[in-house]
Amino acid sequence: MTHSIGILGGGQLGRMLTLEAKRMGYRVVVLEPLTNSPTGQIADEQIVSAYDDLRFIGELGARTDVVTYEFENIPLVSIEALEADRRLVRPSGAVLRITQERLLEKQFVRDCGIATVDYAALRTVDDVPAAIERIGFPAVLKTTMGGYDGKGQWLVRSDADVLDAIAAARGRPLIYEAFTPFEKELSIVCARNAVGDVVTYPVAENQHDRGVLATTIVPARIPAAVAEAVRRSAETIAAGLDIIGAFAIEYFLSGDELLVNEIAPRVHNTGHYSLDAATVSQYEAHVRAICDLPLVPPRMLVPAVVMVNILGGGNGDELGGVNELLRDPDVKLHMYGKAHAALRRKMGHFTVLGADADDALRKAEVGRRKLHWIDNRAVSRA
Ligand code: AMP
Repeated sequence: MTHSIGILGGGQLGRMLTLEAKRMGYRVVVLEPLTNSPTGQIADEQIVSAYDDLRFIGELGARTDVVTYEFENIPLVSIEALEADRRLVRPSGAVLRITQERLLEKQFVRDCGIATVDYAALRTVDDVPAAIERIGFPAVLKTTMGGYDGKGQWLVRSDADVLDAIAAARGRPLIYEAFTPFEKELSIVCARNAVGDVVTYPVAENQHDRGVLATTIVPARIPAAVAEAVRRSAETIAAGLDIIGAFAIEYFLSGDELLVNEIAPRVHNTGHYSLDAATVSQYEAHVRAICDLPLVPPRMLVPAVVMVNILGGGNGDELGGVNELLRDPDVKLHMYGKAHAALRRKMGHFTVLGADADDALRKAEVGRRKLHWIDNRAVSRA
């Protein structure tokens, strides 16, 4: 029997995972370098430690029955150390190794017979001419590891831009990706357990703003055949990875081409809505998968739902307009317990339940316009 769960990473994904795990009766220990983290505020215990301090990583393994992670930039050595110690880690280090490195991940997806954007590895500056020659401009340069929310990415349109991006990357290995003029960005959240059962959530349609997710619309407004193709490719990837846990795959839909952008071996921002609009949330599905409980197909509770990320404005830490937002009975607000609303930091989100996508989008836009940041320090000084 699994009684306790260890989580590497103390952000909002870990927080919502912890809330669901605790509802289901589990003890949760989180390991995260920052005190009073969004997850640490909810978990039974927080181990305050760097992700590569093997003493504390070992401690997390010793204190819990299964260890999981809420983001993929955990040093692989930490996961491997736990596995060498015969601790149960789900998803495994083998999954993390592939999904935390963009080149390995893209090669893996292609090996599954699934398309990705065209790309080339930039291991040294000597690789640059061939990449430009083959893929051309515009292109997106990305660090192969460690990037998130558009960080470590550069849109390049000329040889000079490429050299600037390489200088900005300061020696980190890069991938050179063809810029894809997509019609839609899609994602699918799935969960797979140790006996290979896979459950899938409806395909989500995502709108990003400068690399950060702004809005998710579920179900995506796409033909049924495209949704089916997404689902089938996700099942193929899940089996190929032999993943245990919830995960998400992001896609570009470009004409009738479906291209995998990336795989997240964890619960995902585009699955937040499932807490409010599905019979089983992605967080519960993850707990079920890693704790060997039955996986059941999730059902939507409403025809459509929209999720809006609440990003920091860098101009105050107090969220204004909440009273007005919550007058809409179809709105659910989630805040992550972060003290400082730095510019574009994910501070919370709200979901809007709708009769259809247009209805939910309209109410989401009304809600979004009501929210603003208030600089309390300025108020108290006045
Ligand atoms: P990623 O970190 O790879 O998910 O990239 C963040 C966002 O940047 C994506 O969701 C897209 O909106 C955009 N983006 C990334 N790669 C490309 C690409 N090759 N072509 C066009 N847009 C991209």
